[in-house]
Amino acid sequence: MTVTRFAPSPTGLLHLGHVYAAGFAFQAAKAASGEFLVRLEDIDTTRVRPEYETAIFEDLAWLGLEWQQPVRKQSEHFEDYRSALARLEAMGLLYPCFCTRKEIQAEIAGAGQAPQGPDGPLYPGLCRSKSKAEQEERTAAGQPYALRLDVAKARALAGTDLKWTDRTHGEHEARPEIFGDVVLARKETPTSYHLAVVVDDALQGVTLVTRGEDLLPATHLHRLLQALLVLSVPEWQHHRLITDEHGKRLAKRDQARSLRSLREAGMSAADVWRSVGL
Ligand code: GLU
Repeated sequence: MTVTRFAPSPTGLLHLGHVYAAGFAFQAAKAASGEFLVRLEDIDTTRVRPEYETAIFEDLAWLGLEWQQPVRKQSEHFEDYRSALARLEAMGLLYPCFCTRKEIQAEIAGAGQAPQGPDGPLYPGLCRSKSKAEQEERTAAGQPYALRLDVAKARALAGTDLKWTDRTHGEHEARPEIFGDVVLARKETPTSYHLAVVVDDALQGVTLVTRGEDLLPATHLHRLLQALLVLSVPEWQHHRLITDEHGKRLAKRDQARSLRSLREAGMSAADVWRSVGL
């Protein structure tokens, strides 16, 4: 059975980009007589607000969508992410990184250049080969750290034959190294977006991950994590992004363009669906 999901973060009001993403996932489920899930990606507890969470459900219901219950909230499942991290740790694929942003920038500036990844310059690997003794000493001293994935090691362990399929964009050879040694968790937060999303999609039985094209590069890394954690591998369908009249993608900070404001300005749900072409 086809299972899709819409996974917003309750850090702002929904805008037309969310409407399109939610409608796209909903339609894909309905077209296959499948299930549509909503998941709250609320691991960033500093930015999440309860009123945004309430607004998400109100807005989706107003749009006429229906979704399976219960809704999974990532903040209630840190144990699941901790155990996935522990598995990667046991495989020797994680290392603590104590670098500050400044130190990383200085290292990159000193080197004169750094390979660019989808989220900016790649981590230059300063902490990759620190001794166990130094790692333990610094963590015991209470220093903040991030847990990074040693992507070369991970890649070697997972093998080279890693592929993934997008219904629109076709078959891809996974290239997780484009992110370098990505951060999978921090001292205070046992997960990152990348880790939580693969754990959740597998636990929730998601078979078709639909989301915006901006996240297409992330799928290279997600496919690697699925291989390492022996998780089920869904199909993907990355869709176009909704942009404003200047061609810029919508962001949560443009509250004036929120679905809320459009509703208050008198738009009906049908008008809203039409405006995103669904
Ligand atoms: N929480 C992500 C977002 O709001 C969606 C991630 C996903 O669909 O994988 O952009």
